[in-house]
Amino acid sequence: MSDDNFDVVVLGGGSGGYACALRAAQLGLSVALVEKDKLGGTCLHRGCIPTKALLHSAEVADHVRDGGAVGVKASLDGIDLSAVNSYKDGVVGRLYKGLQGLFGAAKIEIVEGSGRLAAKDTIEVGDRRLVGKHVVLATGSYARTLPGLEIGGRVMTSDQALGLTDLPSSVVIIGGSVIGVEFASVWRSFGVDVTIVEALPRLVPAEDEVLSKNLERAFRKRKIGCKTGAKFSSVEQSDSGVKVSLDSGETLEADLLLVAVGRAPASEGLGFEEAGVTVDKGWVPTDERLHTNVDGVFAIGDLVPGLQLAHRGFAHGIFVAEEIAGLEPMPIVDSGIPRITYCNPELASVGLTEAEAKEHYDEVETYEYNLGGNGRSQILKTAGLVKLVREKGGPIVGVHMIGERIGEQAGEASLTVNWEAYPEDVAALLHPHPTQNEALGEASLALAGKPLHSHA
Ligand SMILES: Cc1cc2nc3c(=O)[nH]c(=O)nc-3n(C[C@H](O)[C@H](O)[C@H](O)COP(=O)(O)OP(=O)(O)OC[C@H]3O[C@@H](n4cnc5c(N)ncnc54)[C@H](O)[C@@H]3O)c2cc1C
Repeated sequence: MSDDNFDVVVLGGGSGGYACALRAAQLGLSVALVEKDKLGGTCLHRGCIPTKALLHSAEVADHVRDGGAVGVKASLDGIDLSAVNSYKDGVVGRLYKGLQGLFGAAKIEIVEGSGRLAAKDTIEVGDRRLVGKHVVLATGSYARTLPGLEIGGRVMTSDQALGLTDLPSSVVIIGGSVIGVEFASVWRSFGVDVTIVEALPRLVPAEDEVLSKNLERAFRKRKIGCKTGAKFSSVEQSDSGVKVSLDSGETLEADLLLVAVGRAPASEGLGFEEAGVTVDKGWVPTDERLHTNVDGVFAIGDLVPGLQLAHRGFAHGIFVAEEIAGLEPMPIVDSGIPRITYCNPELASVGLTEAEAKEHYDEVETYEYNLGGNGRSQILKTAGLVKLVREKGGPIVGVHMIGERIGEQAGEASLTVNWEAYPEDVAALLHPHPTQNEALGEASLALAGKPLHSHA
């Protein structure tokens, strides 16, 4: 075995790992990146990008179906899933090519193969030993399942669901969080009968309660079945479908079962513990500067407990490269990371929910601006709201939104919360008319005591 020496060795080329490698190379550090599959990881190949492409096809299907409501005569002849897949794969393919181009232009050695941490400064890949002054663990996550629930055949996770070549006529989805509701939305728009089974009392349980309530109402209108507070018990598969039993004794029959119960850290068998790195139920805990307990070893992205989002991975990767280069970057705080769920209607949020804010502050004020008063939302025929949460007399600490296309407003919401803006500050800034962006301005105007298109 030969030793190759680098300033930084990154294990895993997903959002976190590739961002770290690119930034480290920009900073003049010598970098090796180990990837066993495809550069781009979950987000590009099995996550954000392909699902959002499907959601766009779904949105177009809805628009064709509902064209008559805005005076456009159209009829939906059907969904050609193979054409949907080529469109989705084309988007992924072009972005993948672009990413490979970025790596081609950067001085980064890409090592193909499965790597493991052989010592605190060494990643072993086949017969190569990559020795780094710094090692960055970025192996990401994988779709988990429930005890006794085996994936295979008609029981699948998002990985297999993205590769379906025939549209099912009915689906049961276990899990009403982000991935579950996004697939529910796509399939419903494609004409599939969908039932979501969620063990907790509400859909998207990590969000502010008002978003769950409004999403459930919108899904009911779309005839998506939502069984909340319902626990999965077992599933039987046959040639023609699945029979899903719930704890309550109820059974649901469908063509497929999608298991969307979260993602587990990918750390097993990779030598982390043997090299002295603390691993907690598979996760690699770090301090706020993303150092693990072992000097010189960092962990980033989905492997680190917290929000599992691609932009968190990018930010972690850039942070660690700059930390290694001695630039003393600002830590990334999970509560300041914007979150979007791209179902129809979309959800977007940043900061504390009302319930969380009440735990942090003595007094909390909130305001819910109904999109009924927002011109652009009326034009789009979407219901929804923007909810602001502020410490009484203090800054806005949470923004929670629901409505078609509302995800595009997450940028301003993020600046507002992260810059600790007061409603009075945001109210003084002009929001262009007629946009959904105005709803953020209107909510701030109201919370600052001077509502315009809303009641005080
Ligand atoms: C269906 C779905 C939809 C999603 N939608 C969104 C979204 O809209 N927005 C959003 O922000 N996030 C979304 N996510 C989450 C997002 O994809 C992840 O948060 C992000 O990919 C995490 O990046 P990462 O670098 O930590 O891990 P990953 O992207 O999982 O990358 C880890 C990489 O490490 C490689 N690897 C693992 N072990 C080894 C080894 N031993 N040797 C070599 N290589 C190894 C893997 O092959 C992989 O390429 C979605 C996820 C899913 C599943």
